[in-house]
Amino acid sequence: MYNYKHRIRIVKMGVFMTTIIQEKTQEIININPATGEEISKVPISNKEQVEEIVLRAKKYFPIWSKLSLKERARYLRKLQKQIVQDMEELVDTICKETGKTEMDGIVEIFTVAEHLNYIIKKGPKYLKDEPRSVGIFVHKKAYVSYHPKGVVGVISPWNYPFILTAGPLAQALMAGNTVVVKPSEVTPNTTLKLREIATRAGIPEDAFLVATGDGRTGAALVESLNTDMICFTGSTATGRKIAEICGRMLKPVILELGGKDPMIIFEDANLKRAVKAALWGGISNSGQTCIAVERVIVQESIYDKFIELLKQELSQIKQGYYKDEVSVGSMAFEKQFQIVMDHINEAKQKGAQIIAGGDRNSSFVNGLFIQPTVITNVKDDMKVWKDETFGPVLAIKTFKTEEEAIEIANKSPYGLNGSVWSKNIKRAQRVARQIKSGSICINDVLVNYIISDLPFGGVKESGLGRVYSKEGLRAFTDMQSVLVDRFNVPFELWWFPYSNKIKQLFKTFTKVLFG
Ligand code: NAD
Repeated sequence: MYNYKHRIRIVKMGVFMTTIIQEKTQEIININPATGEEISKVPISNKEQVEEIVLRAKKYFPIWSKLSLKERARYLRKLQKQIVQDMEELVDTICKETGKTEMDGIVEIFTVAEHLNYIIKKGPKYLKDEPRSVGIFVHKKAYVSYHPKGVVGVISPWNYPFILTAGPLAQALMAGNTVVVKPSEVTPNTTLKLREIATRAGIPEDAFLVATGDGRTGAALVESLNTDMICFTGSTATGRKIAEICGRMLKPVILELGGKDPMIIFEDANLKRAVKAALWGGISNSGQTCIAVERVIVQESIYDKFIELLKQELSQIKQGYYKDEVSVGSMAFEKQFQIVMDHINEAKQKGAQIIAGGDRNSSFVNGLFIQPTVITNVKDDMKVWKDETFGPVLAIKTFKTEEEAIEIANKSPYGLNGSVWSKNIKRAQRVARQIKSGSICINDVLVNYIISDLPFGGVKESGLGRVYSKEGLRAFTDMQSVLVDRFNVPFELWWFPYSNKIKQLFKTFTKVLFG
């Protein structure tokens, strides 16, 4: 039974209305978080409706999966071109429902176009049969073939509603699956726009279907006996629930979860570049990036200089509406706004020092804007240091030795991404190797996500499995190992009947070959 309340919160400076779940009409009302204006009403698909959608995808699977790899790649090339052609329309949809800056919206399109390019070019190579060696069985031939799983359920979050829907979708389609996407209730319009664009590009309707709704809709997709795999991107808490269900059903699942990424800056780093990177890595997209720089770990000897440069750079960053020439937008919805304010306020109460920002931006009465914030003197038990903040906040600690930096960085349940900054690349690589994370950058931040040949995913509580690259594409398939005789072999030495002569022969073989 649906049992949802309207969520309207009154705050000091005005009325903030966030994503609203309408119980009676079973629809979601979406609101532009930067302006407070209503932008859409979208239906909540219930269990039965989800099943109907999944069955359509299942029925279409034999048709889509029979297309050759080249034919699927041709469809995706058309999609890529259509996305680029309709970029303005897409950016407008993304920015209105997230409060992002226009540049952050453009980055979503750019990233997807680059990933699509890779998937189209490399997909046919990585998904075709791959020869394997046969050891001493030289009269045989071995290879691995990659088969689509069936219907893939893609469940996506709100922070990059385009990348995190289009990316898994394209990989799953390339691998021959049909797909049902459940977008976040906060940002359903971006996925609906993508479906519209996919229709213009000629992608068959039942190869890529959409089920809008909230967590219950997502759960129905996971629990369906007719979805063959789930690719989930979202919080660790939801990921855990999905993993439990998939575990019970033995359903394959990729989990792309939260992070609390460290940025280690050594005294010999290019400090100007590191400062700019810390700001962009921590504050772009209002810090609502799974691989955002959340914990800056800076060597004590350069701390004062670092803070001085950081303040200088920060003073030039403008915040505002998406069409303006600004670098930082609003938060995407009220719940996230409250989490970030709670982290900042708790840090203040526990004695942290606010170097910059530290409050909502009161210039935007109807919008969910939080000032870019820098916090020092943080302690291990502060939420801003231990939990995922997911806001425009940089928390800073210092270290003395390399060992201490590594220890601080690894003291987190998360292990998604991170960065190491030093002109001594050998040292940076040595440190990187000791950080427990799915990926890491040296002297850069975030950008590894767009390098399509690098697998992406987390360790520890940041997730399971990988997307992109050869490994990610193959994750959307079932691997089948095939062994075939090269020529007509009348018998095999170890077949019945066994004899003393054969036993002796095998003893000799074993000694000669492996002894
Ligand atoms: P969320 O877990 O609240 O929701 C994600 C999606 O799951 C939404 O579509 C939601 O409706 C759906 N959902 C909720 N409950 C469900 C259930 N019981 N069963 C199935 N589906 C359910 O996460 P969010 O707030 O939308 O996203 C923010 C989180 O995502 C952050 O923790 C961030 O770090 C993480 N994230 C990770 C990556 C990555 O690649 N590792 C990328 C982006 C975001």
